[in-house]
Amino acid sequence: MSAGAPLRISYLDYNATAPVKPAVIEAMVGALDRTGNPSSVHRAGRAARRALEHAREAAAALVGAAPDAVVFTSGGTEANNQALGSVRGVCLVSAVEHDSVLAAAPAAERLPVDALGRVDLERLADRLAAVRPALVSVMLANNETGVVQPVAEVAELAHRHGALVHCDAVQAAGKLAIDLVALGVDMLTLSAHKLGGPQGVGALVLGAGVEPAVLLRGGGQERRWRPGTENLPGIVGFGRAAELALEDRDWRPRVGALRDRFEAETLAVAPAGRVYGRGAERLANTSCLTMPGVGNQTQLIAFDLAGIAVSTGSACSSGKVGPSHVLAAMGVDPAEAATAIRVSLGWASTALDVERFVAAWSRLHARTRRSAQEAPARSA
Ligand code: PLP
Repeated sequence: MSAGAPLRISYLDYNATAPVKPAVIEAMVGALDRTGNPSSVHRAGRAARRALEHAREAAAALVGAAPDAVVFTSGGTEANNQALGSVRGVCLVSAVEHDSVLAAAPAAERLPVDALGRVDLERLADRLAAVRPALVSVMLANNETGVVQPVAEVAELAHRHGALVHCDAVQAAGKLAIDLVALGVDMLTLSAHKLGGPQGVGALVLGAGVEPAVLLRGGGQERRWRPGTENLPGIVGFGRAAELALEDRDWRPRVGALRDRFEAETLAVAPAGRVYGRGAERLANTSCLTMPGVGNQTQLIAFDLAGIAVSTGSACSSGKVGPSHVLAAMGVDPAEAATAIRVSLGWASTALDVERFVAAWSRLHARTRRSAQEAPARSA
């Protein structure tokens, strides 16, 4: 590379946020360029309302719901807070939920997961009978490991005990086919920025007859469930991203093959390494893996210097470097968990990105082994 040439970036952090698709940007610029409040009755307002309702139809179609089931929010965090706030009684939540679920229901009982990160259905049945919760919340796919939960089974069990069911589908949307009715959940969370849309917009999708909590007071927007003038450019971008996510699905098997390839290659270099959740159903794009003996912050810096963007499993919230509650719930030793990173691919990921990752991974691993071997020699 000549001096000063820009560093090629391999962006392998789609689960933190995905690139906004060009057609989404185009749709958003169009929305920004048009004046009109969807609540206004004049023609500019009516045009804005049409754009809003078109986006609602697209977001609903992504999860097999009716358009009027969709309540637009400021993102997944708000939708999760709204869902968890919708009941007065006890909540049961899986131990591997996103912080926005765990923090929204601090008194909730946590359901354990097995070593592969899956909710224990027998334990769920026991706790449903013992606790009689008002709400059960289990995510569709985990943001750190990609492990997919048996949400339809959870919903069936929970309904038998009279509990409402919420599902955080933020990471699954656009990566798995989702059908609200087949899942049987009462509330489902979406976020646009994980599927090629903008940050700061999401939705809570409601099952028939479900009344969510109202977190804000104000006007009558979103059927009074989410007052405030709608973020129309964001919502239009969300709708376009949802349409594209339904149309472009070919990338998933291709990316799954790339993911499997780099997992096999890194494990061949370091057989003592681990891939968490391997053996369970996982999102095709996600891998949470260790580099034995190398702290994940050291790895992150080395990858960043090599132009590769990955994250520690727990780095969804900015600056968070604490231990991963997800890996802890899976019974992973804290020292080992501190060597885990999350690699998440997406539609624009290429074989070259994966080759660069494996090369950087192998270099760092070899360097660390060399220094470990030299250290006792030096001190001798
Ligand atoms: N739920 C999951 C599983 C997530 O991964 C995230 C974001 O990383 C969220 C919720 C929060 O969504 P948002 O960033 O739109 O607030």
